[in-house]
Amino acid sequence: MIPAEFDYVAPESLEEAIRALAEGGEDAKLLAGGHSLLPLMKLRLAAPSMLVDLRRVPHLAGVQANGDLRIGAMTTHTDVAGANLGLVSEAAATIADPQVRNRGTIGGSLAHGDPASDLPAVVLAMEGTIVARGPGGEREIAAADFFHDYLETALEPDEVVTEVRLPATEGWSFGYQKFNRRREDWAMVGVCALIKVDDGVCSEVRVGLTNMAGTPLRATAVEDALRGESLDADTIGRAAAEAAEGTSPPADLNASADYKRHLARVLCRRALAQAAG
Ligand SMILES: Cc1cc2nc3c(=O)[nH]c(=O)nc-3n(C[C@H](O)[C@H](O)[C@H](O)COP(=O)(O)OP(=O)(O)OC[C@H]3O[C@@H](n4cnc5c(N)ncnc54)[C@H](O)[C@@H]3O)c2cc1C
Repeated sequence: MIPAEFDYVAPESLEEAIRALAEGGEDAKLLAGGHSLLPLMKLRLAAPSMLVDLRRVPHLAGVQANGDLRIGAMTTHTDVAGANLGLVSEAAATIADPQVRNRGTIGGSLAHGDPASDLPAVVLAMEGTIVARGPGGEREIAAADFFHDYLETALEPDEVVTEVRLPATEGWSFGYQKFNRRREDWAMVGVCALIKVDDGVCSEVRVGLTNMAGTPLRATAVEDALRGESLDADTIGRAAAEAAEGTSPPADLNASADYKRHLARVLCRRALAQAAG
């Protein structure tokens, strides 16, 4: 429960943080809310030689909603939940308990790359992008290219996530469903759904899955089954039955892979029904 020894710096600018990260080498790690990294360090599953704390770096927290959404990487789950931003706020409000939500950040959640986290599947389904800055400058990575494997992302070791960009979802409705044994636990499975209806027909649909593989996933079979259809209970039920298609959920202490597939189908139906009103 006591982490291995490490050095600590708290830079006051983004440039300084990037420099400290580069100078620290592969064993240097950024520290945001600390609610994923510090437990790993206490369990000695991670032993960074240097922590570069982002909390004094200005302009990394906050939300700009001007059609598209821009959410600073250091924006806490509490602030995302309270900003009334639709799906991403609803999902952030379900994360753990107030202590975790008050410290954990959206940038940390995405950079950590845990497929059981709530926000990665939401950003994937919203077709968001992740902005990262490193010694070579800034780049914008589509969420679809960002999550590579369990706890592995497209980020280079010397890059800092600065912002998450989400396209406007005006005219879309959404649903978010998460199943856990106690309200504040991680999702056994989570499903988010976004739909757009034109002339009584589902013209666009996106469905994201949490904890159904080593990365967050899009449920493309569900999306294909709904696009162009009217959103009655039968159509939703038939589409949701495809929710486990192409997934490879890891069995764990809470649920077998089969049970997770079952949950995905049930939660998908509920999320779509919620979105369809
Ligand atoms: C008891 C408990 C319950 C939890 N339950 C849930 C839950 O139900 N749902 C959920 O989604 N999450 C849950 N979490 C995780 C929580 O949301 C974390 O806050 C989040 O996963 C990581 O964010 P952080 O800011 O704490 O990141 P940190 O722990 O500080 O960092 C995590 C990783 O990301 C890297 N990193 C951080 N910020 C950046 C950045 N800006 N650029 C590049 N790399 C960066 C760090 O180097 C580290 O590798 C839980 C955590 C705890 C302790």
